[in-house]
Amino acid sequence: MCCSHSFEDRRPRVEAEAMNLDIIKGMKFFDPHVHMSSRTTDDYQAMADAGIVALIEPAFWLGQPRTGIDSFRDYYSSLVGWERFRSSQFGIKHYCTIGLNSREANNERLAEEVMELLPLFIYKEGVVGVGEIGFDDQTAAEDKYYRMQLELAKEAGLPIQIHTPHRDKKKGTQRSMDIAIEHGIDPKMVIIDHNNEETVKEVLDRGFWAAFTIYPFTKMGNERMVEVAKLYGPERIMINSAADWGISDPLAVPKTAALMKLKGISDEDIKMITYSNAIAAFAQSGQIDENDFTSPQTVDQTEKFEGNTVLRGGQQPRTDKSSIIIS
Ligand SMILES: [Zn+2]
Repeated sequence: MCCSHSFEDRRPRVEAEAMNLDIIKGMKFFDPHVHMSSRTTDDYQAMADAGIVALIEPAFWLGQPRTGIDSFRDYYSSLVGWERFRSSQFGIKHYCTIGLNSREANNERLAEEVMELLPLFIYKEGVVGVGEIGFDDQTAAEDKYYRMQLELAKEAGLPIQIHTPHRDKKKGTQRSMDIAIEHGIDPKMVIIDHNNEETVKEVLDRGFWAAFTIYPFTKMGNERMVEVAKLYGPERIMINSAADWGISDPLAVPKTAALMKLKGISDEDIKMITYSNAIAAFAQSGQIDENDFTSPQTVDQTEKFEGNTVLRGGQQPRTDKSSIIIS
């Protein structure tokens, strides 16, 4: 009795969720900030099924401090190697941004070595920017390596993906923009991330791109995001999941698109916020060709990357020769 009761309780909610994602069926999404290295292949599958056709994986912090330069080297290599391959096995085009994250800028001995390593990676195929860089605790060391990486991006002609701090966000965001301007960087080359209601106006007024992370509890919920979109419109605004090893949701972009549609935001505006703006911003790298993810792709999970596949012993490959939309 108890069990059937809870089953009945749960069903309407599940059906309602399915219905909400149904209303965005056929739409394409681009998630410009998601840390796939810390996600599972099931997430890739769910993302492809929900319409995500391309993503950007920014280099970030692993959750604990790295102890040596080789850890950075292997991580950057995986972003342009194995992870890109793994993504391709689910029909999703994978790009990345490469940089020294703000937390680890505070280990100056290591940071110096990372600065020497970065030029070996930022010119590689599929690297669409320097990121995510910026401020965490807003220390002198963070300031120093942020400035050095702005110069690196400027020299390479790459967009810059900026992480803004959780603490003292408004001040940290203003400071990130001030320093970028001071270094002669065009605001249209800079994507300011993790915005909220408090920061968005100034970011847009100053000509920067404003990205929003839809993240349970700590950043923006998507109901708040809908209000922001209604207030500011779609120009230079984009959303991302920033899904990582923490509590986060790799379907944040399609779910928010569904909510926007339910709340009356037009399809054209939704497309700009969840797809086109991210492409326009990061295509300034010269590394994004929309045809790579709009034309039908072949997914063959029996393919290998340096001898390894996404399949484990006995698993059947999922092959889809005709479409990236799997329904
Ligand atoms: Zn991140």
